[in-house]
Amino acid sequence: MQDLLADAGYSNGSNYYMLEQQGITGWIPVFGKYKPKIEGFPYDRENDRYLCPMGKPLPFMGFDHTMDGRLLKNYWAGPSDCRQCPNKPTCAPRTRCRKITRTAYDGQYQRAHARQNSRRGKQMKKLCQSTVEPVFGSLVQHYGLRKINVLGKSGAHKVMLMAAAAFNLRKYMKFKPTKAVSMATALEKERQQDFRGSFLISSLLFLN
Ligand code: SF4
Repeated sequence: MQDLLADAGYSNGSNYYMLEQQGITGWIPVFGKYKPKIEGFPYDRENDRYLCPMGKPLPFMGFDHTMDGRLLKNYWAGPSDCRQCPNKPTCAPRTRCRKITRTAYDGQYQRAHARQNSRRGKQMKKLCQSTVEPVFGSLVQHYGLRKINVLGKSGAHKVMLMAAAAFNLRKYMKFKPTKAVSMATALEKERQQDFRGSFLISSLLFLN
């Protein structure tokens, strides 16, 4: 596998990281709230810090976690810098200093965001919308997959396999090869011409 296409529901830093580690290009759009840049605070990659509009540094201060276990990085400005800054009322209104919290996988997010906005990323999005998403929509709406009534991943895997088999079987039964269709149309036309010809002959015989 060299490329992996999935929707934004699979967008998270550890997925991007794992794909990069395995040399797989992930075409997973980043979730809507992610912003690649913080307005007015350019990132200084070399020193792993942000710079504020007054040119003061916000260095990396340590890791943190969200409630659901996602890894974060904290960057804080110096309280002495902020205390005497004229921007403090708008920049850091209720805290001693300005704090920035970013995902620890920001590099991976940035790359995923750039991929998603590239020409190929837009093609991949169209591919996903025209192939994967309608199938999931049908499975949820018509095949009872709004909920999986089994316990465990292996049970869920079997349910998905059976649903995929049923979906493909139905698609196969509805499939009409283009060549066969044109052959059938040609035979039908020929049959209608024969019918019209014999009707004309019968009419002429009748008139005679
Ligand atoms: S309040 Fe602090 S972080 Fe914000 S502009 Fe002033 S010095 Fe920079």
